[in-house]
Amino acid sequence: MPLSVEGDIRPSSGKKLHARIYQTRGKIQAVIHTHQPHASTVAAARRDLPPILDDQAQILGPSVRCAAYAMPNTKKIVKTTVNALKGRFAALMANHGAITIGRTMEEAIIAALVLEKACKAFIEAEFLGGAKPLSGVEAWVMHKVYLFMYSKNKETNK
Ligand SMILES: [Zn+2]
Repeated sequence: MPLSVEGDIRPSSGKKLHARIYQTRGKIQAVIHTHQPHASTVAAARRDLPPILDDQAQILGPSVRCAAYAMPNTKKIVKTTVNALKGRFAALMANHGAITIGRTMEEAIIAALVLEKACKAFIEAEFLGGAKPLSGVEAWVMHKVYLFMYSKNKETNK
């Protein structure tokens, strides 16, 4: 599908990445790209963020993958980042930063804040003898419960 953007303000240089996420994730209405400090630190180490905090698992998904490095604004960075986001609301971008998504803008902003807190906790826990992750299954279940509990459909059923 060809990319078309509208408006008076020049779009971000990452518009192809943002557009591809909207094309591939039907329920997603907001995409945020940041260079937030602690997430960028984990991205610089090219580490995946394991599920180490309950709210992280609930909101972001069973883990936060670090997408393989690619030069900014290339087809490769679009592909690796979209792949890293599969089944999740956040991904790290190797040697660059982070991206979070949500069904609303508020949800994507909360995801960025939770990602930053979890990356800080991960870095510091590694210094305290090593972060101790939740099980992948438990983290996956928590994310699914969150998606159901805070879905638009549930709110409109009230
Ligand atoms: Zn960037």
